[in-house]
Amino acid sequence: MKILVAIKRVIDYNVQIRVKEDGSGVVTDNVKMSTNPPDDNAIEEAVKIKESGKAKEVVAVSVGDEKVQETVRKALAVGADRGILVKTEGIIEPLAVSKILQKVVDKEKPDLVFMGKQAIDDDCNQTGQMLAALLNWPQATFASKIEVKDKILQVTREIDEGLETIEVNIPAIVTCDLRLNEPRYASLPNIMKAKKKPIEQINASDLGVDTRPRIEQIKVEEPPKRKAGIKVASVEELVQKLKNEAKVI
Ligand code: AMP
Repeated sequence: MKILVAIKRVIDYNVQIRVKEDGSGVVTDNVKMSTNPPDDNAIEEAVKIKESGKAKEVVAVSVGDEKVQETVRKALAVGADRGILVKTEGIIEPLAVSKILQKVVDKEKPDLVFMGKQAIDDDCNQTGQMLAALLNWPQATFASKIEVKDKILQVTREIDEGLETIEVNIPAIVTCDLRLNEPRYASLPNIMKAKKKPIEQINASDLGVDTRPRIEQIKVEEPPKRKAGIKVASVEELVQKLKNEAKVI
């Protein structure tokens, strides 16, 4: 079995996001970038399945500019066998990414595609679902447990009501939740070994995919500053304030 894992390079989750002065976007120059956190869980799960003997190959794929190579390299350092970098320029929306990934799937013919449930930069939560629709494959989103059973995958999903367990036929798309596993750190020897693993580079323009943005971003601005809170001495005072000042009861 072959597992393709889609990973996105995003601003590190510890970074305080700053909006550009002209409102054209957020500052990314000299800002720490990392793998989108749930994508680390997706890689970890694929590598664990390979280690259990149920998969033969784990391929990491990322869509973006030249710098995305770093992110692919990190996936190789934690156990992916090889990488694919699909080069694009400028903003790339989930629909375009899913069309590109569809082409990669056509070429690679994986049995499973693992992805993150959501990218923390755009919070779209769309790419996996769109890819499943384009491929006409079953999808299991928000996976917090995955069991491979021959040609079937049993997936426990995090949903509003609690946990739901479903079975999907392979090939399938799975989007991974942060609770799925504990991603490992890359050891120094494995970082060194990853330098020798191959990364294939493909130009998105050669794939015959229309990657033009469908959304026009007009302005990016900081959310309004929140007023400082106050402490109340008693429940009575809280109720008074909710009634008379906030007027919510
Ligand atoms: P989104 O739909 O943008 O919230 O992203 C959901 C998931 O799709 C991410 O966690 C990644 O696994 C995958 N994905 C999104 N954008 C990219 C990209 N540029 N390259 C590779 N994978 C991506």
